[in-house]
Amino acid sequence: MKIGFVGLGNMGAAIAANLVKARHEVLVWNRSAAKAKPLTDAGAVLAASPKAAAAGREAVITMLADDAALESVVSGDDGILAGLDQGALHISMSTIAVATAEGLAAQHRAHGQRFLCAPVFGRPEAAAAAKLFIAAAGEPADLKTAKPIFEAISQRVFEVGTTPSLANLVKLCGNFMILSSIEAMAEAMTLAEKGGVAKAKLLEVLTGSLFDAPIYRTYGGILVEERFKPAGFAAPLGLKDMRLAAQSADTLRVPMPLLSLLRDHLLQTIAVEGEEIDWSGIARTVAKNGGL
Ligand code: NAP
Repeated sequence: MKIGFVGLGNMGAAIAANLVKARHEVLVWNRSAAKAKPLTDAGAVLAASPKAAAAGREAVITMLADDAALESVVSGDDGILAGLDQGALHISMSTIAVATAEGLAAQHRAHGQRFLCAPVFGRPEAAAAAKLFIAAAGEPADLKTAKPIFEAISQRVFEVGTTPSLANLVKLCGNFMILSSIEAMAEAMTLAEKGGVAKAKLLEVLTGSLFDAPIYRTYGGILVEERFKPAGFAAPLGLKDMRLAAQSADTLRVPMPLLSLLRDHLLQTIAVEGEEIDWSGIARTVAKNGGL
């Protein structure tokens, strides 16, 4: 397929590389052009703007940090809306607000373009191994168009509904649950360590019995080895996601007291440890609060 790819950060670079590997014709654009070098070495072509990355393509994929970054590459004279052909598809993979996805869907509709949301679960290592999980929502015909793309980058696609923004709601719920699991593990590990049980031993017992799930195994290992830098998923991005989840909770009138606690722990972690720490670095805050 002829694909445009906009946003070559930790996730985007790995996803785009798999599309090149699967022999799709990929045009890439990134704000810092230097990050495109490994991809152009592998066979992708550098576009001069998001507009150029979208023009003449069957689909353009965006994988940007946040809502503002996505909006900046979509709108304006050099943006995707200006470049994408009528009937061509924008696949938004960033974790963004439900309201932002709703606004984008309307803008593309007004331009005669198609739009679907396909945010992903999995860290950069999973993206590099083409093992992402995708929560996708959009019209059936659009999901069908995206199928060869999804096949090249993921291990499973979950179709969530025909309204694109619903995929973002699922993604935000998922990230809330991931950080809740990290917080719970960090508190339990701090308790165990202070009481004389190594956190590696605690993790071995729990993942070997009742907590045998990827989230506990992946993040448990990170917590045991304190692999918080370099960040696979930076704490400020996690903070963004808790804010977006809180926006939906406000809109839908759902009290989420645990979400408020997680947001505060992330803020404290960023304030003390700096912007570069992984979001699982909240474990350091929990440990310090426990006197470790
Ligand atoms: P990242 O490494 O920080 O990359 C962010 C990307 O956004 C870069 O391409 C960056 O360009 C671009 N960007 C930021 N601000 C911009 C702006 N104002 N204008 C244009 N481009 C801008 O982030 P990531 O980890 O790849 O995450 C990307 C998305 O995936 C986020 O929505 C995140 O929540 C989601 N996600 C991440 C993970 C994970 O584990 N990392 C997992 C699932 C989902 P530059 O290179 O020029 O800075």
